[in-house]
Amino acid sequence: MTSSNMFSTDRHGWTELLPKRSAKPCLSGSHRVPWVVIGAGVTGLACARRLAERHPDQEILLLEARLVGQGSSGRNSGFAVAVSHFAGGFEPDQMEVYRRINRINQAGLDLLRAQVLAHAIDCQWHEGGFHHTAADRQSSQEYSQFLRYLEALEIAHTPLDRQELNQRLGTGLYDVGVHVKKGALLQPASLVRGLAESLPDNVRLAENSAVLGIGKGAPLNLHLANSEVRTDKLVVATNYEASKLGFLRRYLIGSTLSGSFTRVLSNDELAGLDCLNEWGVLSLHSGGATVRLTKDRRICLRNTAEYHGAALLSDTSLVQRQAIHRAGFDKRFPQLKHVSFEYAWSGVEGISRNNTSFFGRQRDNIYLAGGYNGSGLSRGTAFGTALADFASGDHSPLIDDCLASAPGAWIPPRPFLDIGAFLTVRSRFKGVGLDR
Ligand SMILES: Cc1cc2nc3c(=O)[nH]c(=O)nc-3n(C[C@H](O)[C@H](O)[C@H](O)COP(=O)(O)OP(=O)(O)OC[C@H]3O[C@@H](n4cnc5c(N)ncnc54)[C@H](O)[C@@H]3O)c2cc1C
Repeated sequence: MTSSNMFSTDRHGWTELLPKRSAKPCLSGSHRVPWVVIGAGVTGLACARRLAERHPDQEILLLEARLVGQGSSGRNSGFAVAVSHFAGGFEPDQMEVYRRINRINQAGLDLLRAQVLAHAIDCQWHEGGFHHTAADRQSSQEYSQFLRYLEALEIAHTPLDRQELNQRLGTGLYDVGVHVKKGALLQPASLVRGLAESLPDNVRLAENSAVLGIGKGAPLNLHLANSEVRTDKLVVATNYEASKLGFLRRYLIGSTLSGSFTRVLSNDELAGLDCLNEWGVLSLHSGGATVRLTKDRRICLRNTAEYHGAALLSDTSLVQRQAIHRAGFDKRFPQLKHVSFEYAWSGVEGISRNNTSFFGRQRDNIYLAGGYNGSGLSRGTAFGTALADFASGDHSPLIDDCLASAPGAWIPPRPFLDIGAFLTVRSRFKGVGLDR
């Protein structure tokens, strides 16, 4: 198997909106380094940055199979959350879990903000919080549970009725919702590019450099198509693709999501919406649509998720999914039915059966973080940073919070893995109704 068919990609996504850039050279030859990080998404970038700061005299080699921005970190909906929504009802005996996960989210959001400011990363950062909304009966029930949770945790929020939501978002679809004040919207591909371009000098990033295998022993031996690398310590930040390197098989799977962007809206079209300049909507139904009005005046809607063998969708499949995006868009914005979609995109998110994330040591000198179930921008940044400290032998409250992640729930072997993964993803859509 070649690296290119093992790590397929396509051009669709937020990177299409950005100027062209020159990729860092692919790794060739033999190398001996103290640290390797595999994967240049938010987890790997945060980890490499922290390792470089902690070990200024050592080289950190960051290996990315594709181009920066082509992985999930550059293909998501761009919500950096501080407050997680836990589907399935508020459980008072879970308060400590809720608090722990929100502390991790907040740590990641703070780290991201600091990096965006320190390096003047132009990624449309907008820290105005999010709207969590419900259009259908099932998600309306979820709404009252979410309010109980926000109140119990004393999280700043504003409940909104249909009319108030309409005034903010320009759509009359939602029955109820709540604005949670913490959280940032951003352009994900710009963010990861900016993070990659501002890495400390002792990080060497190589793109188009897939690790194809890891040998046992010390030092560890990494096999690439054109290179061999020996390293003392290794961080695996490959998200749902960890199984390709032999980690978390049957615990971390990929769910394929898709969405579309409109063209840029005209002044008249925006005025007709009569809404906030920029906003983001997260559905209170786990299978509901994520919708945004972006700073550059596009509406972006993502409303499909499926088990597709952890692969991106083909052009043909994307065209088919776009009919679902269109239906979701038209029912929200009937006044914009004439507005065309400029393109559709897909991405794969790493999910576990029990919604946990993975953090810690996998085997001697190999560490891993990943699997954030759709909220990896802030959490992945926190996990990646904490993992650098953990692998360096440190202790910290953030490391303790990450280490307290529940163990993953097992998904049975093939062919049942596919059935289990299919059912895991499908269960998120049960009763989605109008929220899609
Ligand atoms: C459509 C969509 C919408 C989403 N919306 C949101 C959202 O709004 N907010 C949010 O917080 N999260 C969202 N997510 C989830 C979020 O994108 C991920 O949780 C996050 O990007 C994970 O970051 P990561 O660095 O762990 O993994 P990734 O971004 O997947 O990075 C892993 C990197 O490792 C590389 N890699 C894999 N294997 C190898 C190898 N063998 N050798 C070298 N490199 C390798 C990959 O190419 C990839 O670039 C969404 C995901 C999708 C798909």
